[in-house]
Amino acid sequence: MKKGISYFGVRNPEWVAKDLATIKDGGIDYVVHTFSEEDMEFYLDTMRKIVRTSKEMGLEVYLDPWGVARIFGGEAYSKFLLLNDDARLVTREGKKGYGACMNNPDTLEFMKNWVDAAYYAGGDYIFWDEPHFSLITNKDGCFCNICGEKFKEEFGEELKKATPEDLSLFRGLTKLNFLKEVMEYSHIKGMKNVLCLLPHDEDLEWEKFAEIKFLDVFGTDPYWVLKPVGFENWMKTRVEKVSKLSRRFGKESEIWIQNFKVRKGEEVLMEKVANTAMAYGIDRISAWSFRGTSYMSYIKSEDPEGVWKKLLEIYSKI
Ligand SMILES: [Zn+2]
Repeated sequence: MKKGISYFGVRNPEWVAKDLATIKDGGIDYVVHTFSEEDMEFYLDTMRKIVRTSKEMGLEVYLDPWGVARIFGGEAYSKFLLLNDDARLVTREGKKGYGACMNNPDTLEFMKNWVDAAYYAGGDYIFWDEPHFSLITNKDGCFCNICGEKFKEEFGEELKKATPEDLSLFRGLTKLNFLKEVMEYSHIKGMKNVLCLLPHDEDLEWEKFAEIKFLDVFGTDPYWVLKPVGFENWMKTRVEKVSKLSRRFGKESEIWIQNFKVRKGEEVLMEKVANTAMAYGIDRISAWSFRGTSYMSYIKSEDPEGVWKKLLEIYSKI
């Protein structure tokens, strides 16, 4: 089982090198570097240096489109959205939403530019992190003209009259088709594709995602912060599903452990996730984020150093 950690927030290569040494000393095999629109524009060669340093230390590198176009998870803003009003999600009431439409050709073109930048920076893997529709503005999906036409083509009716079931299916298919296209593009460039579905994403059967041709690693992030009641059983069903589907379609599997917003006493849950992942033969286990996310006040753990120590203890037993 390979062990990973995500890393963000520091763009001074000298300091990153010190942290990477700490990561390597912790017996960790791969690092997930966030690669936001800000990184792409203002830190491109800095990121290239950071990736190179990571590889020189023997770490595999994932690059994560962190908050890019507000389609993926991450605490980062999007300039693409500001400059491309026509590519924004549209609500049922016709208002602009917080995120780019995955069916819009401009969004796809921009994502391919992002992949080009990630390739330049030297990533081995692209980490397609929690693709979703904005929960703030577009829970039902996107109602722009492009989506309206697509829906009519595929479902033979007006998008605004769609049933909740059809809306859910359409959201799922939209995510699926978008991911297929960007994954093919990064595959052609010689990079591998990792997908992390939100654990509560039920728009489409997960097997549709697991079987994507150019997908290499399939996983999810069952964080207890998302399911405070009934966590253990819920987490187990997700781990089991990832394990089964990855095996069926010949992919590697990956499970994430919550290392942010961990309250004192919850460290024991980290061990439960790791043990479940081991029991189901998961190939990769990773944690969000470095040192209990001590440096981002918004989501830091109550005892970040305790979380980090616990993670290293868990990893040392794997
Ligand atoms: Zn749309």
